[in-house]
Order: sequence, then structure tokens, then C-alpha cells
Amino acid sequence: MKSTTTTTLFRRLMMPRNSTKIIASSSSNRCSSTSGSVESPKERVDCVVIGAGVVGIAVARELALKGREVLVIESASTFGTGTSSRNSEVIHAGIYYPPKSLKAVFCVRGRELLYKYCKEHDVPHKQIGKLIVATGSSEIPKLNGLMNRGIENGVTGLRMMDGYEAMRMEPELRCMKALFSPASGIVDTHSLMLSLMGEAESHGTTFSYNTTVIGGHLEGNNIYLHISGSKALESWDGRSPLHPELILVPKLVVNSAGLSAPALAKRFNGLITGVVPVYNYARGCYFTLSNTKIPPFKHLIYPMPEDGGIGVHVTLDLNGQVKFGPDVEWIAGIDDISSFQNKFDYSVCADRAKRFYQEIRKYYPSLKDGSLEPGYAGIRPKLSGPKQGSVDFVIQGEETHGVPGLVNLFGIESPGLTSSMAIAEHIADRLSK
Ligand SMILES: Cc1cc2nc3c(=O)[nH]c(=O)nc-3n(C[C@H](O)[C@H](O)[C@H](O)COP(=O)(O)OP(=O)(O)OC[C@H]3O[C@@H](n4cnc5c(N)ncnc54)[C@H](O)[C@@H]3O)c2cc1C
Repeated sequence: MKSTTTTTLFRRLMMPRNSTKIIASSSSNRCSSTSGSVESPKERVDCVVIGAGVVGIAVARELALKGREVLVIESASTFGTGTSSRNSEVIHAGIYYPPKSLKAVFCVRGRELLYKYCKEHDVPHKQIGKLIVATGSSEIPKLNGLMNRGIENGVTGLRMMDGYEAMRMEPELRCMKALFSPASGIVDTHSLMLSLMGEAESHGTTFSYNTTVIGGHLEGNNIYLHISGSKALESWDGRSPLHPELILVPKLVVNSAGLSAPALAKRFNGLITGVVPVYNYARGCYFTLSNTKIPPFKHLIYPMPEDGGIGVHVTLDLNGQVKFGPDVEWIAGIDDISSFQNKFDYSVCADRAKRFYQEIRKYYPSLKDGSLEPGYAGIRPKLSGPKQGSVDFVIQGEETHGVPGLVNLFGIESPGLTSSMAIAEHIADRLSK
């Protein structure tokens, strides 16, 4: 059932642009925020979640289950078109992350919640297990370090294996030692999002697609969100003033805009400078294995982690398709409005295959020439740059920026899919009061 708020919102956004009552003009341009003095129609609402990726959807569902009235604003024409549909679809165990970090805590908790949810709601998934492999003796101390870290993070069932034992499990594999993680698995992310959305909707949540949050401003203790139809942005010339068609005044805002979350926070006029972290982007490309009817592996196979990622690994999807990736390519950012429209460069350059063959053959030497085909790419929202090591998720509430009811989610890279339900639980329990 749609609430009054929602019906009104839709009516306003569905109206032709020139029939919406916008009184003052804004001096905003492509890189600055929309003005707080713009007088557009205002609407008070309970909770707004910005972004219908897996994290935003999980947050919306959790808030709705707690009885909140939730509106999800999504710039694309449907859910999950950002990073949530451009990843490895792996349910991570929680091995890699520094103990007590948000990544470690949410990954372990999120995995438990995710498996339980998938079982109870018939979301396709499989706990196929994973082997992290050392292909040279120099990698063995690092592999031992990963095992200790995993144990410290509360990952159960981890077992170090000699190469021969791992190769008995996986005859195509070559390695000196392997760390077996039985808790790792794969999930159909699209089905997961669909299921979470269904539940959110049946608890009153509304998803408003083709609707973009273009900025906001602070007034008293409230944040005012500036909303525009995404169509209006498409035809925008990039120079003339950008006006909100509607202003929403929510009690709670969760900025879950993924790659765009920092760019959007920077457009919240009045938010203290310095709370929005510097962002970097690292593209990860995938190649698929062609001409192979029977997958060469039954488990996920991961090499040792590399700078910026966890290595060009073997992932299987639930249809048995084998893919390799993602690699790490640091790329330049794009301007804020283009990022809201998801105009990132997701192309996979066929030339990158050369390095893939090299990397993969370290643990899968019989990979045939010509068997890799360009697949797809995803982009990691990074809070660190090249050679800077990994930085934790940032879940930023009033204690950091001083704005009641505003939660910014920054740097939700891997294991964000695995962690999604734990992040949602955290926000609903701790930050939405
Ligand atoms: C290559 C790669 C591999 C990965 N593999 C794994 C893995 O195997 N396992 C794992 O656990 N995690 C993995 N991850 C991480 C995981 O995919 C992400 O953490 C997760 O999908 C993030 O979801 P999200 O909802 O935060 O962001 P997104 O899915 O990007 O959603 C953000 C949404 O916000 C919308 N939006 C943006 N700006 C605006 C605006 N101004 N107004 C309205 N809407 C807006 C976008 O259109 C988008 O739909 C991987 C990531 C990458 C890049």
C-alpha cells in the first residue's frame, strides 16, 4: 500500500518539469551544490535511503521491518545497476580484514545473516568453499598470516592443506599450500536484491526510480534533500542552474549512493568540510572462460591478495559459468552529476587478457590460449590510493558530522555484498533512533 507521502512525491515527479512550482533560481553549476535558497515544493518524510544497491535495499528492508516509513530514491531506472551487479557474487568468510575492523565484523555477521536469509527465502546460493593458494614458498608465511587473521576474526573451519591435498580436491590446480575456507560461497545477487526489496515493499517501503538526489542543505537540525527527476539531468546542458523539483525533509537519511556517496555528501551545503573522505576508483575487469563445458574447478580459487584487491581469482556462478578476475586498474574519477548518472567507464579492454593468462597460469597452468573472453567490469569505491593498503568501511553518523539523522556510507567496497545485512542491522539498531 502506498502512503500519502509517496503518492504526492510521485505526482510531483511525474509532472512535466515546467509545471512544478520552482520559484527562485539557483546559482549552482556542475560542481557546486544546489542552493539552499531554492524554493521548491517541500515534503516531510520519515526515512530516505539514497541508492537501491544491495546495501541501500538491505537498509530499507531493515528500517521497514522496524516500523519506519521508508522511501528509496534511485537515479537509475531500476535497482542494482551499480556495483551490486558488477562483482564476484562471493559470500566471503571474513579472512582478509584487520581484526575488529568494520569489514571483519560486518563480513562475519553479514555472512551468517545472508546464509540464513537465503535459506529461508529460497535465494539461490551455494556454500561451495574456497581455497586460497600459495604457488611459491615465499607466499607461505603470508598464507599462514591469513589463517591466523581469519581465526582472530572468528572464521570457523579454516584448515591449512599441503599442496597435494588441495590438488587432490582440485586436479587442475597447482600450488604448494592452500588455506581451505569451507564457509565461503556464492549467491545470486539479483535474486537477493529482489527478495529483500519484496520484503521491504510489503512493509511499506517505496522505491522511486529515475529520481536523483542532486544535493541538499542543512537548516536547523534538519537536512533538506534536493530531488530531481533523472530525465531532467539527462537533458541538462551542464552550465545552466540546476534546480530541485522537490525538496524532501526526512528524519533519517542514509546516503548509500555507492560510488557517488562522497560526491553527493559534498553537495550537502552546510556539512562541515573535511568529513567527506578523498575517494579513489579502482576498476576490476573480469574475463570468462569460453569453450569449456565442464568447469575446471568446484571451489573458488584465490591467489594471494594483491595491492588494491584480493587477486585474480576463479569464481563460479550458480549456472556453472567460470570467470576470472577482478584485476586492479586505478582510474580517474568523473564529475559529480555524471557519477549520479553512473557514467563510469565499465569497458573491458581485451588487451588486459595478457596479464590474466600470466596470473591465472600460476595456479591453473593448463589454461589454454584463446580461452579467455572479455566479461564485465566493476569499480571499487576506494578510500585509499595505490600502495596505501586497505582502509575500513566508513559509516558516518552525527558523532562525526554533527547532523542528526544523517548517515553517510563511504568506501563500501568488498566485502560490501556479504556485509550488506549486517550494515543494515547496525544502522537500524544504532543510528536510526
Ligand atoms: C569488482 C568488484 C568485486 C566485488 N566482489 C565482491 C564479492 O565477491 N563479495 C562481496 O561481498 N562484495 C564484493 N564487492 C563489493 C560489493 O559489490 C559492494 O560493496 C556492494 O555492491 C555495494 O553496494 P551499494 O548498495 O553500496 O552500492 P551500489 O550497488 O553501487 O548502489 C548505489 C546506488 O546508488 C545510486 N545512486 C548514485 N547516486 C545517486 C543519487 N545522487 N541519487 C539517487 N541514487 C543514486 C546508483 O544508481 C546505485 O544504484 C565487489 C566490488 C567490486 C567493485
